[in-house]
Amino acid sequence: MVTVHLVLAVLAVLALRVGFLYLRPFGPCPKCAGTGNIQRGRRRPVCPRCKGKRRVQRRGSHTIHRLAFKIRHGQQTAARYRQEDSHGNP
Ligand SMILES: [Zn+2]
Repeated sequence: MVTVHLVLAVLAVLALRVGFLYLRPFGPCPKCAGTGNIQRGRRRPVCPRCKGKRRVQRRGSHTIHRLAFKIRHGQQTAARYRQEDSHGNP
């Protein structure tokens, strides 16, 4: 079955992408190539995309970090409930 392998490959790539975005949410600005300024004739104005910060947030990393926060928060809530159960009333 070629289709199954294709789906698995796509899932693997997606998982790698998510992990990469989670660990490295920022990347060098593609517009100014990480210099913070753009060449415009003889002037070098501040890059409008990264506003001179030289880094931009990668697309999708915001969503992934929000999701990760939700998952962490959910696990903490669940742990609290379990603790209440074990130390609760007899
Ligand atoms: Zn830039």
